[in-house]
Amino acid sequence: NQHILLTSRPKGMPSMENFTFEDIEIPEPQNGQVLLKTLYLSVDPYMRGRMNDTKSYVPPFELNQPVSGGIVAEVVQSRSGEFEEGDLVIGNLPWALYTTAGEQEVRKLDPELAPITTNLGILGMPGLTAYFGLLDIGNPQEGETVVVSGAAGAVGSTVGQIAKIKGARVVGIAGSEEKVNYLKNELGFDAVVNYREAGNIRQALKEACPDGVDVYFDNVGGEISDAVISLLNKYARIPLCGQISLYNLEKQDVGPRIQGQLLINSALIKGFIVSNYASQFGEGAKQLGQWLQEGKLKYEENVVEGFENTIDAFLGLFKGENLGKQLVKVAEP
Ligand code: NDP
Repeated sequence: NQHILLTSRPKGMPSMENFTFEDIEIPEPQNGQVLLKTLYLSVDPYMRGRMNDTKSYVPPFELNQPVSGGIVAEVVQSRSGEFEEGDLVIGNLPWALYTTAGEQEVRKLDPELAPITTNLGILGMPGLTAYFGLLDIGNPQEGETVVVSGAAGAVGSTVGQIAKIKGARVVGIAGSEEKVNYLKNELGFDAVVNYREAGNIRQALKEACPDGVDVYFDNVGGEISDAVISLLNKYARIPLCGQISLYNLEKQDVGPRIQGQLLINSALIKGFIVSNYASQFGEGAKQLGQWLQEGKLKYEENVVEGFENTIDAFLGLFKGENLGKQLVKVAEP
């Protein structure tokens, strides 16, 4: 058995040196616990924030303790009345090949409903982030222009498709031609700007949004967001979801002050954390599942094979290596 510890706090971009793979015994489940074999683990941008020793909406990872996150696992031994051997479960669990968990810490999955990996992606945390952030804060209306950054990722690709379902004109921002083609040809985005190639991103966005911007779903922050915010329409709404372009900066970013744009456009910007909507997750997952079944939602997964490649998969998020949800396949069911 093996687990992955955070052994030093990254300064700037994390590297292999910040993590240690450690061999450990397979733990024995106690009463009320199950022994789990990790099948898939999720790497997510928010984990970068937990590697810093700063106050946020989740406490920092502790040094010399395993990193943890969303994991789909199989029950291989049960000392709980709630679970049987062979059950598939999801939970927030340590990055380990095998782990024990209390029966309260995991939830049973039904592999008949949808592929199990979707519980870490489109039907899980990223999908729900897109659903509630866009619909509750963005509130897109038919014919409006919705811009989404990080558009080809797990959250962004779902945001764009939901906005299309709601009848909006959807403009994505992404970092490669492969992603641009995918968003336009597979997901039906109306326009996509490649921010790495655009040169003047504001100009490129202006051409892609001839009627201005009514909703901006912000996954990245920084200069990309400055450019979008300069194109806001009156009463625009901005769900502030993430700031991945800033997560690895060693010094705080200083940019233009955007408040003036918000003021003159009577615009709304609102940060949110998906867990704010926890009481409505059932309803959100049901709707996402229905759209998926009806073929109105599509998704991609970028699956890296092997527990030993977990850190590479995590770092790949900051280099744009993933199209769709980034996962690590650890073992066969
Ligand atoms: P993604 O699947 O979108 O993966 C990250 C993507 O971000 C990369 O593929 C890359 O695509 C893009 N990216 C990386 N670095 C930069 C950069 N410097 N500038 C612009 N784009 C960059 O991840 P998620 O869908 O899981 O998360 C998307 C965002 O949503 C993140 O900011 C995350 O923190 C946030 N989030 C917030 C939640 C909340 O509750 N508020 C919950 C879940 C996620 P490209 O090739 O286009 O650069």
